Amino acid sequence: MPVTPPVSATQTSGTATTFTRPRLFTPGPVEIPARILRALSQIPPHHRTDVFREVYKRVSEDLRWLHQTQGEVLMLAASGSGAMEASVVNLMAPGKKALCLVGGKFGERWGSICKAYAIPFETIEVPWGHAIPVAEVEKKLDADPAVSTVFGTHSETSTATLHDAQGLARATRARKRVLVLDAITSLGVHALPQDEWGVDVVVTGSQKGLMSPPGIATVSLAPWALEAIEGERGPRFYWDLRKARKNLPMGESAFTPAVSLVYAVGEALAMMKEEGLASVHARHRRLGAAVRAGAQAIGWTLFSKSPADSVTALEPPSGVDASAVVKRLRETHGITVAGGQDHTKGKMLRIGHMGAYDLSDIYVVLGALE
Ligand SMILES: *Cc1c(COP(=O)(O)O)cnc(C)c1O
Repeated sequence: MPVTPPVSATQTSGTATTFTRPRLFTPGPVEIPARILRALSQIPPHHRTDVFREVYKRVSEDLRWLHQTQGEVLMLAASGSGAMEASVVNLMAPGKKALCLVGGKFGERWGSICKAYAIPFETIEVPWGHAIPVAEVEKKLDADPAVSTVFGTHSETSTATLHDAQGLARATRARKRVLVLDAITSLGVHALPQDEWGVDVVVTGSQKGLMSPPGIATVSLAPWALEAIEGERGPRFYWDLRKARKNLPMGESAFTPAVSLVYAVGEALAMMKEEGLASVHARHRRLGAAVRAGAQAIGWTLFSKSPADSVTALEPPSGVDASAVVKRLRETHGITVAGGQDHTKGKMLRIGHMGAYDLSDIYVVLGALE
């Protein structure tokens, strides 16, 4: 696998090591394939040129392909959270309530954003590692007509849990509410055909399933949801998606785009088109199954009741400190995985396997873990 932060960055000086390239098995940022590194190394053209406008248009078209939408995919210069914030400020009209679905750290973030903007919100919370029951969402929507928009997570990275995007979309469509899904670690991993399933808005970031460095966030609006960003809103300026929509047909963005990253994401999309979307999903399915089976065979326990194929969350065998394993993998094997967040700190290890990973990569991380 082609990665590579500088080797010297992780080697302990004066100590012999048994690895020559550090490996990332983190749930974002992920390893960047050589093809994408090459795309990044091009001298960036100025963004107000025909050369770049063509690239910008092609990448946004290819993003529509990835989302399987006839709507529009807007690119923002931001990490994934920027797209989350943009969707909140553009969709929430004064006097309306949000419903935030919380089963982990990233679900919680929806509530934090609403709070920052003084937008009233309700939450449905499930214990970490569980998926949100669609029936509870239906009940809440039926009981509270002030809720206009539901904010959820497709793959919850802090718990490695996949939520029922299709079921949630069925519930919100039937009740004429807007559904916004954070697909930052599911897009390019799990199927999420936006138009077919009826998901109004999908947000992502470049450093996870899109295999690129952090810095581009996207908001995908289904064709019927394009008008949902219009109307009276609270303050919006940098995140005003009306500006992004207005500029897109010209192949331009409202503000200076992350030019080099547009090339990177373009190359990532070219790789996915070559492999085929169904094959990309099938590969992640197999790798996810391999990590889960292998880790359980050596005594680790799956944390999630509904495991995603982007990242695997594992609890250690009794008597083993997960933080010490994270440290040992990094220092002895040159392998970076993630620990747990919040109350799972020290009690969990998370292995990322989204992007260009293949089965031989999985042997590497499982072998080291054993
Ligand atoms: C990484 C991630 C985010 C966004 O994080 P940024 O650091 O802002 O890119 C949001 N949601 C999920 C599920 C994520 O995995």
